[in-house]
Amino acid sequence: MRRAVADLRAKAATARRKWLPLQLPDPRRGVGLVRSEIERLLAVLQIKNPVQIKWAPDLREDWTATHSWLTSDQRHVIRLRPDRAADDVSRSLLHEAVHMAQSEAYESPGAWHAAYARQKDAGYQENAYEREARLTVIEFATDFRLAMPV
Ligand SMILES: [Zn+2]
Repeated sequence: MRRAVADLRAKAATARRKWLPLQLPDPRRGVGLVRSEIERLLAVLQIKNPVQIKWAPDLREDWTATHSWLTSDQRHVIRLRPDRAADDVSRSLLHEAVHMAQSEAYESPGAWHAAYARQKDAGYQENAYEREARLTVIEFATDFRLAMPV
């Protein structure tokens, strides 16, 4: 049993490494992700599924990042606008990581999407998941340097 758990953990770590960029500097603004800090955050939050982080220059102008938990392969995908300052990217990545942890409290991406949708009437500001993510960023932003100028 212990062996099976260790194997699963190793598999999850390998899957995660496959998707995590070591450093992905944006050619225009020179912001890089700090892999060791991201790994530490994912460990603290006990994220079990693979995580893929990509720069997304086409993301809505008023957003810095988005999180999706894919139903296809249970992979988390974080998209980040590359034209933001390192501190903004770091805080946004922390915010989206909270959504990863929140979503994994549900048994499937579908169950998470349904739970999130039940908050729709509250609006973005009062949405319980968004409030938790914002408060977590206020509390822990200085503990995790997830992006740095490069
Ligand atoms: Zn959010």
